[in-house]
Amino acid sequence: MAIINRIADFHDEMTAWRRDLHAHPEIAFQEHRTAALVAEKLRAFGVDEVHTGLATTGVVGVLRGRPGDGAIGLRADMDALPIQEQTGLAHASTSPGRMHACGHDGHTTMLLGAARYLAETRNFAGTVYLIFQPAEENDGGGRVMVEEGLFERFPASQVYGMHNWPRRPVGSFAMRPGPIMAAADRWTIELLGRGGHAATPHLCQDGIVAGAAIVSALQTIVARNCDPIEQAVVSVTQFHAGDAFNVIPETVQLVGTARSFSPTVRQLLAARIGQLAEGIAAAHGVTATYRFIEGYPPTVNSAAETERAAEVAAEIVGAERVDPATPPVMGAEDFAFMLQRRPGSYIFIGNGGGEDAPMLHNPNYDFNDEILPIGASYWARLAERLLPVG
Ligand SMILES: [Zn+2]
Ligand SMILES: [Zn+2]
Repeated sequence: MAIINRIADFHDEMTAWRRDLHAHPEIAFQEHRTAALVAEKLRAFGVDEVHTGLATTGVVGVLRGRPGDGAIGLRADMDALPIQEQTGLAHASTSPGRMHACGHDGHTTMLLGAARYLAETRNFAGTVYLIFQPAEENDGGGRVMVEEGLFERFPASQVYGMHNWPRRPVGSFAMRPGPIMAAADRWTIELLGRGGHAATPHLCQDGIVAGAAIVSALQTIVARNCDPIEQAVVSVTQFHAGDAFNVIPETVQLVGTARSFSPTVRQLLAARIGQLAEGIAAAHGVTATYRFIEGYPPTVNSAAETERAAEVAAEIVGAERVDPATPPVMGAEDFAFMLQRRPGSYIFIGNGGGEDAPMLHNPNYDFNDEILPIGASYWARLAERLLPVG
């Protein structure tokens, strides 16, 4: 493995930063301590400009190398999740109900490590924008940064992101051109029937029976309406109805998610869920109110930038440990909003662990400190290769 020696030298320090962040998790748009720590470190490393307060708690460091017009953005996320940690580790969360269960503590640390090295060596021509974003989980901090003019204030021509992935080997990378993560949308169906005594169903309009029929029918969208070559998910995740064993309730609420990669499939899911809900509800004599709420768009990697990312990853860990055509996953990522504005690539770094290692968002998950210098080396080399000197 070709980890940058200077970065390996401060592996212990990076581990300490990561564990400190892990012990002090902050959720979406509340990353005040985290952002202050990031800004303080960037200043201490000699990063030329440190901008705070983007999208509330975002931080951007501007690092200038040798003379040059090129400019790239490297992005890490900083937020934690509303989960009660169960690892029992010495560096476990000190905030009840808050946990870095997605490894954003590690992502922040890897970009800080690269920032330190790049600020010391400046072996690149042009500008590196170090983007630390808030609220990746659900609340779209990346979208807010873009809407607030991220790329106008910090005109990177390309942007790159990275996420750890448990059960992928330590010292491995994976990426693909095209969609790598899905669009994640939310939908709700409110059914209004006529409640009454459970002993007199003939005097009621039963939303529970209608809701059950809708849940079954929704399974046909992926099976019968989507092009079989495309990927899609429709999951019902909430079914709320009733409070008493002898009452047919007046209202029923169904909630779920729809995942897709192509705009055509996304529109199909949005339309078809509503058609089935309204038609089946009508057939049962109840009324359905349907809402489809667009969440994150698909995360789409551009081809040329992904090829460069794969080359740099191979430089660090060897080509045999880089999968340049990994299958996409149906999860979502708000780095998608940055990739809508700039070409770039979002890649996975192996977090290690066997087949039963806790996955992301699990209360027993922990970021693997072994991979800190691998990820930091990838970031540093990426900057040096994309912005070559001379
Ligand atoms: Zn997550
Ligand atoms: Zn994450």
